[in-house]
Amino acid sequence: MNEAVYASRRIDLMPWTKYRERLAKAPVIFLPVGALEQHGPHLPMGCDALLAEAMAARVAEALDGLLLPTLRYGYKSQARSGGGQTFPGTTSLDGGTLTAMVRDILREVARHGASRIVIVNGHVENQWFLTEGIDLALRELALTGRHMQVVRCEYWNFTPQTVLESLFDGGFPGVDLEHAALLETSMMLALYPQLIDMAAIPEDATGVFPGYDSYPQDGRGVPASGVLAPARAASPVKGKLLIDSTVAEMVKALRQEFTV
Ligand SMILES: [Zn+2]
Repeated sequence: MNEAVYASRRIDLMPWTKYRERLAKAPVIFLPVGALEQHGPHLPMGCDALLAEAMAARVAEALDGLLLPTLRYGYKSQARSGGGQTFPGTTSLDGGTLTAMVRDILREVARHGASRIVIVNGHVENQWFLTEGIDLALRELALTGRHMQVVRCEYWNFTPQTVLESLFDGGFPGVDLEHAALLETSMMLALYPQLIDMAAIPEDATGVFPGYDSYPQDGRGVPASGVLAPARAASPVKGKLLIDSTVAEMVKALRQEFTV
């Protein structure tokens, strides 16, 4: 990993003149989006943003793209996918706020002349608010005759099934329950080992939820640690395999989508 290389792709670290030069080559521009949300006693709360950003940076490197500053807040944590809003530290946006931020950013980069955007999402709960922001921006742009193509993707959907199967003895529990569990912990170990407290990984427990959501949410079914599935088998080797295989699939898909 060479963070200095990625830094050269971040538009917040370049002067506008350089950005204009790079834009002339019609690059794919990436907007990573995460959340500030409890991720158990062993992972930092910015986990979803850090992972979305790491994926976006690697894919941008392969496609000679640019990186917008990461959105480090996201939509409200839900019990069944993030433990819910009962934990201190989890700091969430209303859906309308997230939608408006995405709409505004897209409108601005369209004004710059960018036409190919990828939103890399790292937080399950964000999905439809990102979509709404994209839809509102495109509706507005259509009125002015500007064209923009936007891909919204959840990075975990690119992880090959064969890789997931190789990492789980007892079968893959599904991405919702994987909150702060084996996948995220492994990838964070590969990327930011200095931020992970291995000794704090809780005893294995799994969230137990009905097939519906009941509001107001009160934390029912959420393990006290906030970790929704076993994390102890996490390792940096597994994390590297997850990151490399996921990035490879994202690059393949986006090359096809944007013919780059
Ligand atoms: Zn997460």
